[in-house]
Amino acid sequence: MPQPKRIALMGFSLEANGFAPVTVKADFVNQIYLAGDELAADLAKPAPRAPGTMIGFMRAMTTAGPWTPVPIVMAGSPPGGPVEQAFFQEILDAMERGLKAALPLDGVFLAEHGAGTATGDHDPDGTVFALVRSIVGPKVPVISTLDLHANVSQRMVDNTDALIAFITNPHVDMIERGAEAAALMLEMFAGTRLAADMLRMPMIPPSVTMGTASGPYADLINYGQTKLSRDIANVSVCAGFSLGDTPLNGMTVTVTARGDKAKATALARDIAGRAWADRKRYVPKMVSLEEATAMALACSRDPSKPSVLFADPADNPGGGGRGNTTYILDAFHKAGVTGCLLGMMVDPPLVEDAIKLGVGAKFIARFNRDRPHEFSLPFTADARVIAIGKGSYVGRRGVHQGRTTNLGATALIEVGGIKIVVISLRQQCADPMAFEQFGLAIAAARSVIVKSRGHFRAGFDEVFTNDRIHEVDVPGLTTPRLERLAYKRAPRPIFPLDKDFEWQVPAD
Ligand SMILES: [Zn+2]
Repeated sequence: MPQPKRIALMGFSLEANGFAPVTVKADFVNQIYLAGDELAADLAKPAPRAPGTMIGFMRAMTTAGPWTPVPIVMAGSPPGGPVEQAFFQEILDAMERGLKAALPLDGVFLAEHGAGTATGDHDPDGTVFALVRSIVGPKVPVISTLDLHANVSQRMVDNTDALIAFITNPHVDMIERGAEAAALMLEMFAGTRLAADMLRMPMIPPSVTMGTASGPYADLINYGQTKLSRDIANVSVCAGFSLGDTPLNGMTVTVTARGDKAKATALARDIAGRAWADRKRYVPKMVSLEEATAMALACSRDPSKPSVLFADPADNPGGGGRGNTTYILDAFHKAGVTGCLLGMMVDPPLVEDAIKLGVGAKFIARFNRDRPHEFSLPFTADARVIAIGKGSYVGRRGVHQGRTTNLGATALIEVGGIKIVVISLRQQCADPMAFEQFGLAIAAARSVIVKSRGHFRAGFDEVFTNDRIHEVDVPGLTTPRLERLAYKRAPRPIFPLDKDFEWQVPAD
């Protein structure tokens, strides 16, 4: 009997918004920053905090036969600004210590996002992979999953055997991609050699145009998937994180071939050419605040009208937004919209007020009293405390399904005809549990506002089909209107910030 393979489990996961305030250690601790036995204990729970890709990897390995998981470090934060360099170094040190103590290893699995930046490193994911490779050597398989919003670097490709990005947006294939990583690692144990190539295009599609149900990105990903074969192990088309503002901005195609790198290169070029030719299809379709307000008002006045959902993609905590802008709330409140649910506003002092005053209390709600950002304008209104929450929920549907989402202290308050879920930790509203934790049914609302760019679609689709969803064009740190942002580090020219320039797929 061969010894069970010892496989390290680790990862650094941050989607960094170059326009957002710096991400600090507390942001990771509140989501996941666990090493060794603590990480093992989390992974053994029915609803772990660890990424779905790691869970999928573990399940697939266990199904395949005996193996020895070696949990090293998992550090993951909600999307935010670049991570503070000193804390990133702390993560690297913990990874280095853990890996060295765990040697010899047969393989390393990483659950990375791929769009990280640190205040002193524009390619921390590449730094993590290079560190891993330097410790385990060139022969040990190193495979990582990536978000399809990853800004992939050549160093990331050079220091791994395979990069496996999500193919769905909303990301409902985390478990499958983890299982795919396991399958490829098992192939490598059996002797398969992998060779990858990556190509970057000078284009940054706004995230709202990157759905995979239909549209240009769906067409591109689907095309790539038709090319999987005995020669081609994986096709990862990462449209990237447009808000990163990093030298690595740009859509990438990474192809992993079995053996023959030339085949990976040829396919990457083919897909890149198609992506570039299709670039003008990535156009956000948004409604103005005035149009949204009129729609919400019409719904509250006429119960026979189908209810509608308004997304606030410009203030998406899932993209580095603060989850506290009040443009839609203010407009809907002034107009007298009723039967409306809003999830989730991040405002710790307001939650504290609600908890102190207690259920049933009437008070003046003062949103954003400490103004953490220029877009987070103050908003004051008569309010009532309806309920105090438990502080977390286990996702029921969509991208957070089966995993614990930590909200910090939480309250439900009512402002006019709008019920607002107020939380203390930044989280996007992607699961109906955001409301159901308070006994609110989204099907009973006349309108719903979510602080989310697009992941909510996989959670709210029981009630809100795409034709009943509108993205509202208001200011914010995660606006899909990229031309409104002051890019400093992204390579130029880049589409759509620059429009009149040519780009050719390299000939050789
Ligand atoms: Zn993503």
